[in-house]
Amino acid sequence: MGAPPHPQDRARVTAGEAAPLTGILRRQIAQTGPLTVAEYMAAALGHPLHGYYTTRDPLGRAGDFITSPEISQVFGELLGLWCADLWLRAGRPAPLRLVELGPGRGTLLADLWRAIAVVPGLREAVRLHLVETSPVLRAAQAAMLERAGAPEPVWHDHVAAALDGPLHGPAIVLANEFFDALPVHQYVRSPAGWRERRVAWDDARGGFAFGLDPAASAGLIQVPESLRTAPQGSLVEVCPLGQSLMAEMARHVAANGLAVLAVDYGYTQSAVGETLQALKGHAPVDPLNDPGSADITAHVDFAALARAATEAGGHVHGPTTQAAFLGRLGLAARTQALVASRPDLAEQTRAASARLVDPARTGMGTLFKVLAVTPPGLEPAGFADG
Ligand code: SAH
Repeated sequence: MGAPPHPQDRARVTAGEAAPLTGILRRQIAQTGPLTVAEYMAAALGHPLHGYYTTRDPLGRAGDFITSPEISQVFGELLGLWCADLWLRAGRPAPLRLVELGPGRGTLLADLWRAIAVVPGLREAVRLHLVETSPVLRAAQAAMLERAGAPEPVWHDHVAAALDGPLHGPAIVLANEFFDALPVHQYVRSPAGWRERRVAWDDARGGFAFGLDPAASAGLIQVPESLRTAPQGSLVEVCPLGQSLMAEMARHVAANGLAVLAVDYGYTQSAVGETLQALKGHAPVDPLNDPGSADITAHVDFAALARAATEAGGHVHGPTTQAAFLGRLGLAARTQALVASRPDLAEQTRAASARLVDPARTGMGTLFKVLAVTPPGLEPAGFADG
């Protein structure tokens, strides 16, 4: 399985022999057998020395991909107003933990920090907690927040550390393009039944290649019930880590108050189909080529996240599209206000806002979904008209 390498890729595979992660994973496979797709993805993104996020800042025009907060300041500002509105509805709890998962360059928080100044008392109540594994991005976040005049945040490696222990209490957790970076398992319905897909080393090809487990594995119970009868050849992606993190956070906000807000590209109903993709320099590349050098993501199964949150006692809102959500939060009015204050930048400002809600099938407006989890009885803005 897997597409044969492009001649150009072949050259890079050869050059990649020297790339540390290719050698490390190749040796690991030789010793302990083919890796699950999730193990491969986790190593490619998060290996402590050679992982993609460990070694670089991937964002921006010169990087490999661009995200909503990097496109327009309006994104972080509107999310800030969403937080402020929720804080008021919840009766202004203080202190309020504001946790961001995978904050990238810290741009969203910097824009949010500016926007929440309009609500007296909120800045004073907020304690910033960032969940970030990349040392490069932690440094970028520190610099960005300092420039924005925000208080120094506390960094954590894991979600549990940002919510547990003495930190117990009301929290808002924000995650933009975080869940798509969490490792997925892939299962294929072979003639013999569902099998987990694995990454092996193909000596003949001189590169990594996909294969299937010869036997059924325990992980198969994760294939959603509704998909088990899918036709032969179907591939299903499952992200148990995303589901367990969502459950943990939902349990936290159900018990302590406020919300989780997840924004990502993904689908509303669990579905068959491969979405695992690698991006380098804004162009798709083979995810099996030169791990650690490209971003690898998979679309987010919002139905699975919603199920996990509901089972943990959370009240789920959405998913709705990013276009509908930002529209309801006042994207048009905020864009107009920015244009009025900087007429010289009118064109860029309007184009950036339009990009956030681009209705094309692969555009941010509809491919991106927004899901919130609150305790029962708390209604966040942005999910219903009016
Ligand atoms: N939210 C930012 C960045 C998105 S890129 C934005 O919208 O611009 C994904 C982010 O998640 C990066 O900051 C990356 O370092 C972080 N990340 C990826 N996997 C992670 C993990 N398992 N634990 C913590 N952070 C992770």
